Amino acid sequence: SQLPLKDPRLFRQQAYINGKWANADSGKTIDVTNPATGEVLGTIPNMGTAETRRAIEAANAAWPAWRKKTAKERANILRKWFNLMMENQDDLGVILTAEQGKPLAEAKGEIAYGASFVEWFAEEAKRVYGDTIPGHQADKRIVVIKEPVGVVGAITPWNFPNAMITRKCAPALAAGCPVVIKPATETPYSAFALAELAERAGFPAGVINIISGSAREIGGELTSNPIVRKISFTGSTEVGKILLKQSADTVKKMSMELGGNAAFIVFDDADLDAAVEGAMMSKYRNTGQTCVCANRILVQDKVYDTFAQKLAAAVAKLKVGDGLKGETQQGPLINMKAVEKVEEHVADAVKKGAKVIAGGHRHALGGSFFEPTVLTGVTTEMAVAHEETFGPVAPLFRFKTDEDALKLANDTEFGLANYFYARDLGRVWRVAEGLESGIIGINTGIISTEVAPFGGVKESGFGREGSKYGMDDFLVIKYLCMGGV
Ligand code: ADP
Repeated sequence: SQLPLKDPRLFRQQAYINGKWANADSGKTIDVTNPATGEVLGTIPNMGTAETRRAIEAANAAWPAWRKKTAKERANILRKWFNLMMENQDDLGVILTAEQGKPLAEAKGEIAYGASFVEWFAEEAKRVYGDTIPGHQADKRIVVIKEPVGVVGAITPWNFPNAMITRKCAPALAAGCPVVIKPATETPYSAFALAELAERAGFPAGVINIISGSAREIGGELTSNPIVRKISFTGSTEVGKILLKQSADTVKKMSMELGGNAAFIVFDDADLDAAVEGAMMSKYRNTGQTCVCANRILVQDKVYDTFAQKLAAAVAKLKVGDGLKGETQQGPLINMKAVEKVEEHVADAVKKGAKVIAGGHRHALGGSFFEPTVLTGVTTEMAVAHEETFGPVAPLFRFKTDEDALKLANDTEFGLANYFYARDLGRVWRVAEGLESGIIGINTGIISTEVAPFGGVKESGFGREGSKYGMDDFLVIKYLCMGGV
């Protein structure tokens, strides 16, 4: 590749099975392109069922020795992995931007965020405490211990090519589980770079495996193979439902981080400048391509026009371009399908009476670039109200009372994140308790951190990633009943 890397060995174009770099059995490959330039970055193996089965069997073979290590021994290896990620943050950022498109500063931020899960769970695994329970009969004693669930299948999306992998694999590995990872086909190189660093950190062969290729075949094998005891998925609700159905026959433990339709509510007592700043971060981070991006912005009547003006002014200043080039704040969308969806959402809103006050079109740069956009006069009849746009479009809805805002915000099958800006203490509590989502940002547009539990309710899924709760997804409880004492 032509990427400006200090350590070119981080750019691997092979999968990683049982501690060895591997090609597809068929020898077939898939091209990976840079969304900013359309150039082919390289190829990856087009693997399927057979290679996936081998990776699962390698993971299973590695399991007994890995789980037998003490938490501290595993933590030492994870800590090395963390250090290597941070030492190679610049190169990992370049690889991430090249395959995904986000501005380099954001990509480097994601590397630090991704690495933080490795650090956190290495520490947290030492505190997988059990319980003792007073016996229910005089001769009985009850003890509860927690054990690693077994081989984990991790299926991850393209919008956070590094962090979605570490957020699943760090707790799994720390708990004593081996992993088989299927990264998104659009963004495999960040995953392979993590495998290269894992090898340097000293993970035993088979503990970490990464395969690329046919989502249907790899997903089919991961969900149907009885050796896999746990599936952790981040992606669309549509695919999540398929994986849940496919996993039913072998009754696997599941974590689902699915789609969102976040409301960002601005009440009339809000600090409007802070709300604009929060909306910019929540809406336009990763060019609107995160599952916690504000999808609908609800603004109270009295402050609607002022907020709209301030937001449009801030949006007009965003610098759009290739993420690898200097000052870029908004990269391209991941592909042309994403552009078409954004375009359809804008056209549908305009047809039904919305007004474009910033952007609104494909960007003059061409390719998959789209202008950062703000729409006013948006109503619930429009597609933007019900579907995840996953692009740089801020649709502004108008509401009158707090009850209206809650009703609007909760009028969705999703429940991942919501945000609101308000100062009145009673209102803050009522709205926080009234919103149906796993995450609420109050007077902030950024909620992601390794120390807090990330996850949804309703059709946004279940399970939590990060925090002390994130470990539970990879542990099973065993209760020991001791009689005859
Ligand atoms: P997105 O809309 O973010 O691309 P997807 O749900 O389509 O989300 O993809 C998320 C991940 O799921 C990717 O790694 C993708 O390759 C994988 N995937 C897509 N379809 C399937 C499937 N039928 N079985 C297993 N994995 C799949």
